[in-house]
Amino acid sequence: MFTLPNLPYAYEALEPTMSAKTLHHHHDKHHAKYVDTLNTLMKDKPDLASATLEEVIAAAREPKNPKLFNNSAQAWNHGFFWECMTSSGGKPEGELAEAINAAFGDLEGLKAALVTEGVGHFASGWAWLVSEGGQLKVISTHDAETVADKDGVTAILVADVWEHAYYLDYQQDREGFLKGWFDKIVNWDFAAKQFEASKAGGKGGYRYPSPLQQAA
Ligand code: MN
Repeated sequence: MFTLPNLPYAYEALEPTMSAKTLHHHHDKHHAKYVDTLNTLMKDKPDLASATLEEVIAAAREPKNPKLFNNSAQAWNHGFFWECMTSSGGKPEGELAEAINAAFGDLEGLKAALVTEGVGHFASGWAWLVSEGGQLKVISTHDAETVADKDGVTAILVADVWEHAYYLDYQQDREGFLKGWFDKIVNWDFAAKQFEASKAGGKGGYRYPSPLQQAA
């Protein structure tokens, strides 16, 4: 069984940028549903009983099992997304700040790239800052698509650009949501840990909470 991780902060912690109402809806309903569906689908996958979530995602990639892929990837993406936010904000420092300046000119350059990517992404998906071969890049992925199982690519940050992430607080204003998210609630300490892990190559860094030992 895969678990729904608790948020790493109180539901009110990200207000007013992200409301407690949005977090209850997003975490307790949307993320929970992906995890529940994943666990139901896993009952038909005894060969994956001891697999990590990252291994399930890789095993389910299209064309093998789209439903299992969508629910496992969405479980992972949301677990990662919660870690990307904090009430304490701040700015990137040290090697991460240097890498951001090298790739985007400065922090405003990264913000512009991420907001443009997220706003320009048609329909549902995710806007990512990733590290690939030590180089920072902004990308977006459609629907449940993820970098969780991509060799040589490490997720540094992600913003959920599905409407359910912002509609209660911003209605259709995805740009306003992304700008506020970037300025106020990004967890740069977490991003720096991911960047540090990325330098070792391979995946490193964040892993979704391990599956609990199945009761016999
Ligand atoms: Mn979401």
